[in-house]
Amino acid sequence: MKKKLLYIFLLAILVSSSVAAQDPLVAELVNRVNKDSILATMNVLTGHTSFWYGAGEYKIKSRNSYDDGNKAAGEYIKRKLRNLGYNVYSQKFGVIDGENVYALVNGTELPRIQVMISAHFDSMPDVVAPGADDNASGTAAVLEAARVFKDAKTRYSLVFALWDNEEQGLLGSKYYARLARERGDSLLAVINIDMIGYDANKDGLLEVHTRNYAHSNIVANQVWDANYEYGIGLKPYIIDPGTTRSDHASFWSYNYSAITMMENFTPINGYREFNPYYHSMFDDMNVLNTDYLFKGVRLAVAAFGNIAAVNEITSVEDENEVVPSEFVLKQNYPNPFNPATTINYTIPREGFVSLRVYDILGNEVAELVNEQKSTGSYNISFNAENLSSGIYFYTLETGGKRFTNKMIYMK
Ligand SMILES: [Zn+2]
Repeated sequence: MKKKLLYIFLLAILVSSSVAAQDPLVAELVNRVNKDSILATMNVLTGHTSFWYGAGEYKIKSRNSYDDGNKAAGEYIKRKLRNLGYNVYSQKFGVIDGENVYALVNGTELPRIQVMISAHFDSMPDVVAPGADDNASGTAAVLEAARVFKDAKTRYSLVFALWDNEEQGLLGSKYYARLARERGDSLLAVINIDMIGYDANKDGLLEVHTRNYAHSNIVANQVWDANYEYGIGLKPYIIDPGTTRSDHASFWSYNYSAITMMENFTPINGYREFNPYYHSMFDDMNVLNTDYLFKGVRLAVAAFGNIAAVNEITSVEDENEVVPSEFVLKQNYPNPFNPATTINYTIPREGFVSLRVYDILGNEVAELVNEQKSTGSYNISFNAENLSSGIYFYTLETGGKRFTNKMIYMK
């Protein structure tokens, strides 16, 4: 009985949010989706850009479950979500050492109810498998959604999930969905993304796969609506009954509402624009239509925001800091200070970062940062309460470079 009531309650929420016109806060988040940021993430996932992993610079050759790059990709995803400020969880499962990564953030009004955006990060075939379309595109979409939602407060809780071992039989998502059902998670909707980068004929067709499980059809309609409400410019096409060959199907198995967004993979009116490099070593960045991909991420963010109900956005975005192009160590603020001040630095590429404070004799008095950091801009606070007044220097070391600024502590 209780279950039945919850079911009806979730239906009511979905229906009420589906009739809304454009929400200005969601529109703001959609506008924050940044193509360069998406491509920067994809370049790491496909091995075009190295990142720090293990003992040094590392390029991912394959994210296949049987290759080292699979673990490296999982680590990269964890780090990226942590650096955005999320609580990150990993979930190990199965005989091939699978590991899902997800971030969870509580909703402000009804945190028991969750809205999920997800994608698998493992790739095919083996050894060399950049998997740009399948599925660095979906993974980058989820990470970009995480970036733009980091300063948003939403009515319901958000889950950003990246599945491992999808190509081995949806193993990661099956594991999560089963546990979710056992725990009694109230998952309002799952928006899964699998291959949204290939559109050589530029028709903008994007499939939304649904079936009559829970309220999946309403979620599919919400994605369809969001395309028009937010002027995304794609041609969404609802496929019902949709494929069972991606991670949304794991949620159908446990009667959750779930859809997958996908490029034109299914024959529609006898025509199918199939990525000819699918599951080959040639599924790489050069075959993608990055404008189509960008629109797909905007659509996912719009639908996700509509369903999660955005109440507030707590920061103004600094466009220059989204995809930084150079190292910056800013002058601390305030300066002179007493007893605390903030130091801002920006790194244009992933790497080991150390930020230390020295007195005028060159003695180290504080270590503020000493860890791996991903591309981005960071604020660090420094409290000098236990030190004496005077001149201090703070030094940033990263990527073989060294920057030093002076600051003045006046009690
Ligand atoms: Zn896939």
